Amino acid sequence: MKNGDHAVTGDDLYGGTNRYFNKVASKHGVEFTMVDVRNPDNVVAAIKPNTKMVWFELMSNPLLRVGEVKTIAEKVHAVNKDIVVCVDNTFLTCYNSRPLDLGADVVMHSATKYMNGHSDVVMGLLAMKSDELKKKLMFAQFAIGAVPSPFDCYLVNRGLKTLHVRMQRHGENGLAVAKFLESHDRVAGVSYPGLPSHPQHEVFKTVARGCSGMVVFYIKGGLEQAKTFLASLKVFTLAESLGGFESLAEHPAIMTHASVPEDQREVLGISDTFIRLSVGLEDEADLLADLDQALKAALPTV
Ligand SMILES: *Cc1c(COP(=O)(O)O)cnc(C)c1O
Repeated sequence: MKNGDHAVTGDDLYGGTNRYFNKVASKHGVEFTMVDVRNPDNVVAAIKPNTKMVWFELMSNPLLRVGEVKTIAEKVHAVNKDIVVCVDNTFLTCYNSRPLDLGADVVMHSATKYMNGHSDVVMGLLAMKSDELKKKLMFAQFAIGAVPSPFDCYLVNRGLKTLHVRMQRHGENGLAVAKFLESHDRVAGVSYPGLPSHPQHEVFKTVARGCSGMVVFYIKGGLEQAKTFLASLKVFTLAESLGGFESLAEHPAIMTHASVPEDQREVLGISDTFIRLSVGLEDEADLLADLDQALKAALPTV
């Protein structure tokens, strides 16, 4: 995109994407409008004559909202077929959802996460059908120097060989954790698109065949309880990043999404009691026992 171009993006994005769009690219004259993509008409309504790109996360970080790729791509392309519809599919991977088949023009993955799966690489990847777009992007890559090292490529290729097995287990453990938290008396609310209680569960099933290990919930109490919970975990590690073999827990308002302006965090629901889990590949019983003891340490009485 260049100076004077416009993009419509989701309003719930990975903190670094939000930061790059609104604090870096916007300084170079690219304009962004953030909308709630759960309603595809919001995306269409924000399109302007200079709109060149639509960008959203299929399962959003951190709220796990679902972008209905097929409807969004159809409606956007009906207004202007040249608008490039980009989907960040980091949270689900190509094992669970195939946005290019649903009408997206470009799919992005942070390969740092599930695609590599071993928490030892920082890399990104783009997939697309158009050769013309590919040529342009490869030229930009060549000109800018955003090239991964051969060793990192080797590591991601190693990770991809077990992607299907890992994603099955992440999905099973994620669902078990989501169900456990949903029934726990120290938990105020859970969001996991694989659960029937998720407001977009039916829509989710039309864009994905399975879910991942990303689970978010609200702990009862306040910031103190959230902090004690995180400090009390023994199997889950308190850390940013996600999608690796090991279970991680983090506090988005303080950690990954601290750079999202406070008023925007408030509107979205990224509050002091909001906790994000990346459920790993460990034994299910160990994970549930760890969550249970940490919840009880944070809230000794209900
Ligand atoms: C982590 C993440 C990114 C950025 O990936 P890096 O590889 O860490 O630069 C982008 N989108 C989503 C949804 C992410 O979770």
